[in-house]
Amino acid sequence: GKRAFIAGIADDNGYGWAIAKSLAAAGAEILVGTWVPALNIFETSLRRGKFDESRVLPDGSLMEITKVYPLDAVFDSLEDVPEDIKTNKRYAGSSKWTVSEVAESVKEDFGSIDILVHSLANGPEVTKHLLETSRKGYLAAISASSYSYVSLLKHFLPIMNPGMYLVSHLISPCGSSISLTYIASERIIPGYGGGMSSAKAALESDTRVLAFEAGRKQKVRVNTISAGPLRSRAAKAIGF
Ligand code: NAD
Repeated sequence: GKRAFIAGIADDNGYGWAIAKSLAAAGAEILVGTWVPALNIFETSLRRGKFDESRVLPDGSLMEITKVYPLDAVFDSLEDVPEDIKTNKRYAGSSKWTVSEVAESVKEDFGSIDILVHSLANGPEVTKHLLETSRKGYLAAISASSYSYVSLLKHFLPIMNPGMYLVSHLISPCGSSISLTYIASERIIPGYGGGMSSAKAALESDTRVLAFEAGRKQKVRVNTISAGPLRSRAAKAIGF
């Protein structure tokens, strides 16, 4: 079976959860990366059976999550983490949650993965018009919602099972990676502010470049899906 790492699950309402379920139903082993500040409540809810109803797969069995890794995808390595985050009580209880450390832990635990899913975004000023957005807010949106994908792929690529060709025949399936984008990258969607429209445009452009690079380097596919509106936690926060 295949092994998938899904970054960006903290409850059972978002796209990450739904993708995990589809992959589990198709027989994949599920590893999850959960934003550090949301980790405690997610793990507690899982343990207490709060998600059991939504864990039910089409064959009646329950989706198993093999391991939940704490993750903050705006930090690539420990050296990038500022002191106030290191000592923040929501972060201090966990360790090895920067992107490079999570990839390292997954490598230690499982050796390799076949599927990488990026289902995360954050725009601290998303409720502000682009005209009212600060430089800090704009860059934070790009960091959490666009560069986070570049970084995840960069650090996970070495442990992604490559596709293999014999002469011109694909003899083993390629590793594969997807992210989720939104139509606001190409059309005006009032309310999707704070640089989030810019972040999705970057994500889409990066998908083309990363597909070119990761395809040639390792025969790993890179795609993004422009998803329709879903009342996830993130979407409710901006009143969608
Ligand atoms: P969601 O709230 O379920 O998922 C977003 C996740 O990102 C959350 O679990 C959050 O904890 C996590 N996250 C935020 N900052 C993070 C960080 N620095 N490091 C690690 N994790 C972090 O909401 P969703 O709507 O399912 O979002 C998933 C993806 O789908 C996002 O890329 C979003 O932009 C995209 N999308 C959503 C919609 C929609 O209408 N909901 C539409 C199109 C695309």
